[in-house]
Amino acid sequence: MTKRQPLVAANWKMNGTLATIRPLVAAISAGINEGVRAEIAICPPYVYLAEVAGLLENTGMLLGAQNLSRHDSGAYTGEISSAMLLEYGCRFVIVGHSERRSLYGETDALVADKFTQAIKSGLKPILCIGEYLEEREACDTDNVIARQLDAVITKCGIESFEQAVIAYEPVWAIGTGMTATPEQAQEVHAFIRLRLARHDEKVADTIRILYGGSVKATNAKDLFTMADIDGGLIGGASLDANDFLAICRAA
Ligand code: PEP
Repeated sequence: MTKRQPLVAANWKMNGTLATIRPLVAAISAGINEGVRAEIAICPPYVYLAEVAGLLENTGMLLGAQNLSRHDSGAYTGEISSAMLLEYGCRFVIVGHSERRSLYGETDALVADKFTQAIKSGLKPILCIGEYLEEREACDTDNVIARQLDAVITKCGIESFEQAVIAYEPVWAIGTGMTATPEQAQEVHAFIRLRLARHDEKVADTIRILYGGSVKATNAKDLFTMADIDGGLIGGASLDANDFLAICRAA
């Protein structure tokens, strides 16, 4: 089995001001060299990308965005292209976050297009997949995960996953304080790896699969020690430097 370097990615969502993100990144930077072996990425709102890119210089931490357009350029008011993200130093981009899917109507097909656009331009997509509570209760989790994954594999090809990261984020756990148990998360992570292995065993073995959904300093270690969990996508807890650093150290 391949040893995968853990990744912890901060999803700030629509939070922060210039006055709050400067001390936040400074505090994270000050502690990031103590006992952190994971790769760390920060995904701020678009308008703070330039500022955060500057703050992350020489820290070893990487920059990511929360979304991108599926188009190269053109008359798409309010959209941001992959080329723009690259110009500001982004290495990662979150694709198909459940808030994009549920609040902005992003379909599996659109998510697959965005994933393709990221890969095509050299950004590493962090593909978010996950089930609603009703779907879990109806024992439909595997079907939902398979559908979301297959939409991207069919459109973009399994080879594209060599450059990608997957985040399993049960929707019922995002921002709710209701974390999946390590065993629940591990079960789905193993299923994702198995699904990928049907197409390419090497990709399945090497891809990093993050868990996301109310990860905190207190539960990170138990989640990250599971065999198929390679780090986390962190929302709320990434806005507090001490909490975020504790999670990074747990990875
Ligand atoms: C997220 O937004 O991807 C997320 C996991 O949020 P939270 O950690 O706040 O649940």
